[in-house]
Amino acid sequence: MENAQIADRLDAFAALLELGEANPYTARAYRRAAETIRGAPSPVAELVRSGRVRDLRGIGPGIEGRLRELVETGEIAELAELERELAPDLVGLGRYLGLSAKRSVQLARALDVRTAEELREAAAAGRLREVPGIGPKVEAQLLEALASEAEPRPRQGLLLHSAWELVGGIAAALDGSVAGDVRRWRDSCEQLAVVCVAAEPSAVLARFAELPQIVAVIEQDEHRAVGVTVEGVPIELVVAEPQRLGTALVRATGSPAYVAALEPLPHAADEEAVYGALDVPWCPPELREQPFRGVPPALVEPADIRGDLHCHTTWSDGRASVEEMGRAARERGYEYLAICDHTPAVGAVQGLSADDVRRQAEEIAAANEALAPFRVLRGIECDILPDGRLDLPDDVLAELDWVQASVHGGQRMPRAEMTKRVEEALRNPSVRCLSHPKGRMINRRPENALDLERIFELALETGVALEVNGLPNRLDLSGGHVRDAIAAGARIVCSTDAHSVQGLGNMTLSVVTARRGWATAADVLNTQPLESIVRSPPR
Ligand SMILES: [Zn+2]
Ligand SMILES: [Zn+2]
Repeated sequence: MENAQIADRLDAFAALLELGEANPYTARAYRRAAETIRGAPSPVAELVRSGRVRDLRGIGPGIEGRLRELVETGEIAELAELERELAPDLVGLGRYLGLSAKRSVQLARALDVRTAEELREAAAAGRLREVPGIGPKVEAQLLEALASEAEPRPRQGLLLHSAWELVGGIAAALDGSVAGDVRRWRDSCEQLAVVCVAAEPSAVLARFAELPQIVAVIEQDEHRAVGVTVEGVPIELVVAEPQRLGTALVRATGSPAYVAALEPLPHAADEEAVYGALDVPWCPPELREQPFRGVPPALVEPADIRGDLHCHTTWSDGRASVEEMGRAARERGYEYLAICDHTPAVGAVQGLSADDVRRQAEEIAAANEALAPFRVLRGIECDILPDGRLDLPDDVLAELDWVQASVHGGQRMPRAEMTKRVEEALRNPSVRCLSHPKGRMINRRPENALDLERIFELALETGVALEVNGLPNRLDLSGGHVRDAIAAGARIVCSTDAHSVQGLGNMTLSVVTARRGWATAADVLNTQPLESIVRSPPR
């Protein structure tokens, strides 16, 4: 049996477990195992036969049993049985309507339908009332729910900053290390893991179960446990013997595809030794997404950043004054900070008119006097109007040191129109940077249709930089888009879009996102001194 076939059966099993309302973690575990098997370089059936399949990441004794059955008999009996009983799309529809899997199956039997489509037809024909236990009231409710049926919502991960707080807190409480999606700084984290070291795991497992963050432990064996938080988020704890800590960390950190391509992993006490034994250079966690055995580039570091080029003050929707923001930036060791408040078209909050911009200049001059040699730059986050014009007159923009151009309203424009709109704005000679280019809000709003390839070309032509916005719900450009931007020769800027003094701390999130896009310091404009950034340095 081929790896792909085995993986498909495990995926099918996971889908039916989900529909059957089994423990969601179990279904996830099967999905992850399927992914690992799909990416495994050697035949998994062999590993099963030789009893070594548990060397693969995420394969515990339960899944091993299923795999043995599958390899030996060609089928998983329970899966075959579930498939006979549940028509997946029908049960999915039932769950959407608020019915249990069991009730959905009863309903389907009573109506003699096999698929979701047949159920909809039967309902439309007024046949729901034939089902014992469904009166006119319930029928009306079901019909209403069917009429408003929308696309099922995809599963949502945790935003990176919340995931860090949660997993980092658990790791600190157990003297362990953060692993999983969080250690790779994924923008939305689903696979949460902590790795601890102990010769005697039971004490660590017991402490894990008692942590205030963990409300229940749903899986446990000798060396690992899965706990869930109040919000129902599963977190895996791996307890490694000291001489295998490095192996456990590599396995719990990389994506399934990345780890599978390195398997079988040698046992070693630290990651460097694991990589050394594999004869592969150590790889920063941010790059452990796709299989990679090469020499990683020298990625940009938070300490390379010399200033922040996007923040707000009380002049628009920020919470601190110009001087307070400047002082806080100076305390972070920066050399400069650009004040980029909003313009009126932003709508929801107050924006600066041309007059306001000129009045703000006085406050910025005073802050510069107080904070010298630190520099506060006169900037703006200028809205790009639907027709591509900017929200302030050209002569006002030309006075400023740093102009961010931003699309706020109208993110749903079609691709050609949106691209033309942004192109038009970027051709204004005062514009230095495009803010949050794809306009996404993680888990809430999809990316806009902007043609990034075209924008990267234009960026190269005009010298406009692309922002990597560090707000945890934006992280825009994303790591993948950063990589494309750099490949196209465009420059990026790591910014926080801070609306408070604390918000300046989101620089870490921006920098790690750039690192996920393979950015070096040379690719990031604000690793440069002020003279190379501002065309005419402020007086
Ligand atoms: Zn903005
Ligand atoms: Zn902003």
